[in-house]
Amino acid sequence: MNPLSKNDVVAVIGAGTMGAGIAQVAAQFGHSVLLFDKAEGAAQAGLDRTAKGLVRLVESGKMSAEAKDALLARIQPTETIADLASARLVIEAIVENLAVKQAVFSELEGLCAENTILATNTSSISVTAIGAGLKRPENLVGMHFFNPAPVMKLVEVIKGLATDNQVAQQVFDLAQAWGKHTVMAKSTPGFIVNRVARPFYAEGLRVLQEGGADEATIDAIAREAGQFRMGPFELMDLIGHDVNYAVTSSVFDAYYGDQRFLPSLIQKDLVEAGFHGRKTGRGFYDYAAEAVKPEPSTFDLQDAPNAVTVVGNLGVAEALVARIESAGISLTRTTGVEDQAGEIQIGSLRLALTDGRMATERNAAQPDQEWVLFDLALDYSKATRIALAAADQASELALKQAAGLFQALGMKVSVIDDVAGMVLMRTVAMLANEGADAVNQQVCDVAAVDIAMQSGVNYPKGPLAWADQVGLAHVHQVLCNLVITYGEDRYRPSPLLRRKVFGAQNFHG
Ligand code: NAD
Repeated sequence: MNPLSKNDVVAVIGAGTMGAGIAQVAAQFGHSVLLFDKAEGAAQAGLDRTAKGLVRLVESGKMSAEAKDALLARIQPTETIADLASARLVIEAIVENLAVKQAVFSELEGLCAENTILATNTSSISVTAIGAGLKRPENLVGMHFFNPAPVMKLVEVIKGLATDNQVAQQVFDLAQAWGKHTVMAKSTPGFIVNRVARPFYAEGLRVLQEGGADEATIDAIAREAGQFRMGPFELMDLIGHDVNYAVTSSVFDAYYGDQRFLPSLIQKDLVEAGFHGRKTGRGFYDYAAEAVKPEPSTFDLQDAPNAVTVVGNLGVAEALVARIESAGISLTRTTGVEDQAGEIQIGSLRLALTDGRMATERNAAQPDQEWVLFDLALDYSKATRIALAAADQASELALKQAAGLFQALGMKVSVIDDVAGMVLMRTVAMLANEGADAVNQQVCDVAAVDIAMQSGVNYPKGPLAWADQVGLAHVHQVLCNLVITYGEDRYRPSPLLRRKVFGAQNFHG
C-alpha cells in the first residue's frame, strides 16, 4: 500500500463547521481537495467561510495573500457525490446519524477505487458500526478532528473492529504530516477525549451540587491553581449544555450505566430550562449585556504567621517550602520523618494536602489539633490561588492563620466547604483514573491519553503525567478515600493505577 502523499486527491463530504475546516487543513498541506455537500450551495458557502477566515489571517500578517489564494485554489466545491471518484482519501463530516453515514459510505464504495480510504469524523458513533454494512470495512477508519479543525492540533485516529491496521497507520501518518498531534485509539464510546474529559465537568458539578463552592469559585480554582484555560462551568457554558449533557448521557448509556459517567441533575435542569450557555445568553452564568460576572469567593486578607514548622514530606507541594522561606517566614523542619506525609504546623493548626478525606474526618483522630486542608495546584511555586477547607472542629482563628500563610505567599485564598477531595485534587485524580482505565482497557497507550487531553482540550498537563507528578500512591489514596466517603463505585481506582502503585512505577517511565 503506497503511503498517502501530497499528490493524492482528498475529498471532504459535508461542508459544515467541521468539513470546511478539514478541507482547509488538507489544502494547506498541498492536496487538491474536492468538497461536497448535499445541500445546494453549501460547499461553496463552506469555501466562502474558509476564505473569510484566511483573509483575517492575511490581515493580521499570519499568512501571505499568495499563500491564501493558492490554498483556496486547491479546494474545488462540487455539486455531485460522483465527482469524488478520483479521491484517494474521503473524509466524511456530515450529520451525526449512523444510517445516513452508512448510506453515504456505501455509495462512496461504489464510486471510488477499491483502495480508497474512507474516514469518518464522527465524534460519538462507533466506527465499527458505521463499517458494518460496507463491502470493504477494512478501509474505513475514524479521523476525529476538533473544532475549529484548522486551529485545534489533535486528530484521534479510530480503529473499528474491521479496520485494517495499515489503513489506520496511513491516516495517522498523514495527519501527522498535516501538522496535527495524532493519537491512535480503538473505537469505544467517547474515544479518548470525550471519555477522559468527563470528570472535568462531573466533579465540578458534584462539588457545586453539594454546596462545596459556587461556580465562579470552582472556575477560579481550576484556572488559577490548576492553570486550566477555563474552569468547568465556563467551559460547559461555551460548549453548550445541550451538547455537553448529550455527550455525557451518550457515554453513560454506552457504558451500560457505569456510575463513572453519571450525568448531573443540575445540568439536566439547565438543558430543560433552555439555558444552554453562551449561545442562549444564559447557562451557569448570565451573558446579558448588563450582567455582571460573579466574583469567586476570596478570603479577607489575614496576618502572616511569623513561623511555621514543616513535618514530613509535602510531596507534590514541596515547592511551598521555598515559597514560605522567600516570604520571610521562619521555617523549621523536623528531621527524621522525611518518609511521612507532610504537614505544616502553626500552633495547634495542621495544614496538609487533601488525601481524599474530609478535614473533619482527619481531625477526629486528633482532637487537640485543628485541621485545615489545602487543594492541589499544578505548580505550587506559581499558583495564584489556593482552595482551603477547614474541619468542623477547627476554630475561625486556625482558618485565618492558614489563609494568612498562603496570602503571605502571594496567593488568593478560596475557602470551600469541607468536601472530600476538594476541587482540583478530586478532578485530577478522576481524570487520571479515567485515562488509566482507557489504557487498561486497551483503547490507547499512555502517551496518547496525555497528548489527546493537551491537544484536544488544552489541558495544562496530561492527566497521567500530572498523576505521576502528584505521586500515584497519593492519587490512589484519594480515590480510595472517595470510595469510602461516597460508597460509590464511581471512584473505584483503575486496576492499572493500582498495579503501578504496587509496582512502584509511574505511567511515564
Ligand atoms: P454541520 O451541521 O455544521 O455540517 C454538516 C454538513 O453535512 C451540512 O452542511 C449538511 O448539509 C451536510 N450533510 C448532511 N447530510 C449529508 C449527506 N448525506 N451528504 C452530504 N452532505 C450532507 O455539522 P458539523 O458540526 O460540521 O459536524 C459534522 C460531523 O463532525 C458530525 O459527525 C459531528 O459529530 C462531527 N464533529 C463535530 C464537531 C463540532 O464541534 N461541531 C467536532 C468533532 C466532530
